[in-house]
Amino acid sequence: MLHLARRPLLIAHLAPDGDAIGSLLATGLILHKMGKDPILACQDRIPATFRFLPNARLVTQDGSDGDIDVVVSLDSSDPTRMGDVYDAGRFSELPLLVIDHHITNVEFGSINWVESKACATAEMIYYLAQALDTPLDPDLATCILTGMVTDTRGFRTSNTTPRAMHIASALMAAGAQLNEITERTLNSRSYKLIQLWAHVLDTVQLRGDIISANNTIAMRYDLDNITRADGVVSFILGAHEAKIAVVFTELPEGKIECSFRARPGNDVASVAFALGGGGHPLAAGCTVEGALDDVRGQVFALLEQSATAR
Ligand code: AMP
Ligand code: MN
Ligand code: MN
Repeated sequence: MLHLARRPLLIAHLAPDGDAIGSLLATGLILHKMGKDPILACQDRIPATFRFLPNARLVTQDGSDGDIDVVVSLDSSDPTRMGDVYDAGRFSELPLLVIDHHITNVEFGSINWVESKACATAEMIYYLAQALDTPLDPDLATCILTGMVTDTRGFRTSNTTPRAMHIASALMAAGAQLNEITERTLNSRSYKLIQLWAHVLDTVQLRGDIISANNTIAMRYDLDNITRADGVVSFILGAHEAKIAVVFTELPEGKIECSFRARPGNDVASVAFALGGGGHPLAAGCTVEGALDDVRGQVFALLEQSATAR
């Protein structure tokens, strides 16, 4: 499918993370080397943290430009994750290649390549480069390693397999700087984000083995355009008493984004999926319409139902 394409449209998911962006840029580099002219798109802007990546400035928020002949969805478990960039009316006749590693993937493409054992979609892009005989160079290796580093929080999560470590080593040998990627993506944040953390952590509460916190619009009044308190949910799961952590983020459009983390042996993907989202057993998310307290109530009811499994 990719061999035949001339102008592929590559799409990373809404509120893109390091894996979505790394996979998008890496796939763009591979296709470019094959003589294609890919469009790299994401509905939301690339966060400042990831603008150091090669070609990050080429990512457009509007995929409608150009004579597209194939669409590739990266790191998205369902079509809504692609946002407005995927124009269903216009693209319905085109082949859609889904490349993803979420266990909750609903296989919405004409071809679905889903590997739930891959630590990141970026790991799959490494296999893609191998399959297409694309040699690694420092730029390609940097984009792939960024996706793997961010989705494993620095190779610390349970999806960090020996194979992932082996690939990371090959990427470093090809010129990717592990230390620089880790510093930029995991160890550096704005002062405003730290202030938001302070507000969010002020609301933390433990109920049984579920720890939660709120991130409200009012907290962000004076904090520029920051919305998500990235990292808080993994941090609060560190409480000895907690098996599951949730952060509820109030979005301006009357919706609540729920971000879940769990200790091994639990499954938050099924709860997120039941609420229209998805993810992995130990890290998942969903966006639910309604007021903060109502959504909290719905989420706690589902988590407590699934507690019999704990
Ligand atoms: P986050 O808490 O935003 O870091 O997301 C954790 C995991 O859940 C990631 O693998 C996301 O891709 C997935 N995820 C988050 N939000 C959603 C959503 N609304 N729909 C599907 N998957 C999601
Ligand atoms: Mn992602
Ligand atoms: Mn991912």
